[in-house]
Amino acid sequence: MVQRDGDASLDAAFVLKWIRELASQIREQRDYLTQLDAAIGDADHGINMDRGLSQAISVLPDAQGRTPGEILQAVGRTIINTVGGAAGPLFGGGLRSAGKRLGDRPTFDAEDLLAAMRAGLESIQALGAASVGDKTIVDAYVPALEAFERELRAGRDLASATARAREAAEEGMRSTIPLQARKGRASYLGPRSVGHQDPGATSTALLFAALERATRTRPAATRERP
Ligand code: ADP
Ligand code: MG
Repeated sequence: MVQRDGDASLDAAFVLKWIRELASQIREQRDYLTQLDAAIGDADHGINMDRGLSQAISVLPDAQGRTPGEILQAVGRTIINTVGGAAGPLFGGGLRSAGKRLGDRPTFDAEDLLAAMRAGLESIQALGAASVGDKTIVDAYVPALEAFERELRAGRDLASATARAREAAEEGMRSTIPLQARKGRASYLGPRSVGHQDPGATSTALLFAALERATRTRPAATRERP
């Protein structure tokens, strides 16, 4: 993997920051996520995600001395084991696959992060078989990943790439409103699922928002390219 100046410094502390940010945003938005799921599902998405992330946070102290990849795998496994429903195995499996893709290196760069996030998406699609337009996690994840890659290819730094990824995830999230769900519980509603924002796409936007925040709060010296 090509090492890019200034981006090769992502480490275990960065991953911990990302997951802690995600847990706190999911906690803050728990009731909102649950309301979204009440409209087109069974009103448990916020509760599910908060349970999984809270449990993941509680196992983070065991992360001492672990590599970034090991931490992501542990977080993913915890979410899979704690969260029932569709979202647990999808989000947990995605994070676990991202961690596996990072392997056991102690630090990684923006290209590695892109590859890891792509592995996460592949796992989500392998398990859930959803494509863009099905009104799921995938509708926020795919555009976010595309924006992230586009920014890196344009030579932007990690902070800009994660900012654009978060914006694209939010756009993808909003794009689910007019869609009719074709996967998951919401699909049982048929046309009645139209007009509501998908809860899982909303959590996915939070995943990318947390990534952006973890990037922005890195020390200035390692954030900018020389
Ligand atoms: P459940 O639907 O089992 O109650 P949650 O409420 O926690 O689980 O999660 C619902 C979210 O899961 C949906 O809003 C949707 O984004 C996501 N989802 C459901 N099925 C799939 C799938 N096959 N692929 C991707 N995401 C899915
Ligand atoms: Mg639900």
